[in-house]
Amino acid sequence: MTIDYTDLYLDGRWVAPATNSVVPVISPSTEARIGSVPEGSEADIDAAVSAARTAFDDPSGWAHWDGKRRADALALFAEQLQARGEETATRVSSQNGMPISLARQFESGFPALLLQYYGEMAVDSQDEVRPGMLGGSTVVTRSPIGVVAAIVPWNVPQAITFLKLAPALAAGCTVVLKPAPETVLDAFLMAEAAAAAGLPPGVLNVVPGGRELGAYLVGHPGVDKVSFTGSTAAGRAIARTCGDLLRPVTLELGGKSAAIVLDDANLTDDIESFFGATMLNNGQICWLCTRVLAPATRYDEIVDIVTDLARNTAVGDPLSDTTQMGPLVSQRQRDRVEGYIAAGRNDGGRVTTGGQRVAERGWFIEPTVFADVRPEHTIAREEIFGPVLSVISYTDEDDAVAIANSSQYGLGGTVWTADAERGAQFARRIASGTVGINGYANDPTAPFGGIKNSGMGRELGPEGLSSYQNLKSIYLDVR
Ligand code: NAD
Repeated sequence: MTIDYTDLYLDGRWVAPATNSVVPVISPSTEARIGSVPEGSEADIDAAVSAARTAFDDPSGWAHWDGKRRADALALFAEQLQARGEETATRVSSQNGMPISLARQFESGFPALLLQYYGEMAVDSQDEVRPGMLGGSTVVTRSPIGVVAAIVPWNVPQAITFLKLAPALAAGCTVVLKPAPETVLDAFLMAEAAAAAGLPPGVLNVVPGGRELGAYLVGHPGVDKVSFTGSTAAGRAIARTCGDLLRPVTLELGGKSAAIVLDDANLTDDIESFFGATMLNNGQICWLCTRVLAPATRYDEIVDIVTDLARNTAVGDPLSDTTQMGPLVSQRQRDRVEGYIAAGRNDGGRVTTGGQRVAERGWFIEPTVFADVRPEHTIAREEIFGPVLSVISYTDEDDAVAIANSSQYGLGGTVWTADAERGAQFARRIASGTVGINGYANDPTAPFGGIKNSGMGRELGPEGLSSYQNLKSIYLDVR
């Protein structure tokens, strides 16, 4: 049975799309068609932005509700999402190959958590009164920034959607969401949850489509802020448009993070969290540490440990509870990863395990480890977005820092050590937005984002809310 939608969720209703185009959804495991949704057109984007604009400009509407009222509405939304949690996880796994056990955490669990977290922040949000340096005082107010264009990728579609939606809605913004064509069925289920929760018309609108449609949305005159997660190339194009328009933009882009194994590390003890930091979601997460930096004195041992880990990973049906790694999202992505494996070999890297397709059907690639990789090799520099690790040798701590920081990216990173204090000190030397010690997990209370080609701006934490707010200073008693 396939899941097919005929209408789009716009202005709080399910409405017929402007054209007959559809987005087909293909299973990456079986290559069978598993569903479809209408493909949005420019006319649908116009309708969505107009609905979001009207909702935002309503003087008694969402943007003007007090924080408690919005938090209550977001709590109802969270409830409806939770009621659909298992179906959400199943849809995501079926569309992008994410192992179901992970989809249950990231895709069903995280969105409701974020709605609750930012809902509470909306309740607590207050004007700030500061004593003026020149006498009098100043009231600093925060107001919602306006209509938000949220453009998301396919790799962790629901969690990434809610990194944007939860703070934007809590701040009082209205949103037009453009999901990636590969993962639309979960976005439509999320729209069903919003409708069932009674989110007011126009507060959330969902228009699926490809990059041209995304580009149209980014430049739309009715949009006040753009929030994007995806490739660095697309991020640059979006930044150019937003630069011309002087439109605020948050960009969460690619990465090539380093897992730095210090000389005292006991990797075997932490092997599960090492897997999580390097190969989770079939190697398709922006912050994964795909460059493993190993001390020269322990290089062969570390290569063996990482090789065993990859070799023993259970690859298979993403809907099975025991699967640790599913297929890549698409044929295009599989071809891209194979291209990088070929480049790794050409540059002189040595494949210690993997490198091959797994099955006749589906876009599976074996977890792959390269030894003898040097920092200048293509596979050590470019984001592969697949389960391909490069183990690179370093001489001492300064050398490890230099290699880690030689990247064009700066998003994540991990330090592996028996001495957590040493790890935390070492982390300060890594040029990136986030670093984990003996593991990696995004903490919702702390800012997440990158430097250099990994993007600009931060999501999560109070900083994530601020990026959907305008600040205004009202100077009192100034004479
Ligand atoms: P992409 O950046 O092309 O697409 C991501 C989203 O942006 C999709 O919704 C897409 O339709 C939209 N989009 C693309 N170009 C746009 C533009 N110019 N204006 C507005 N919207 C646009 O990513 P992809 O093609 O799906 O994947 C390619 C590579 O991107 C991957 O191999 C990986 O390196 C990287 N990627 C990174 C992340 C991340 O979380 N940082 C996520 C997915 C992909």
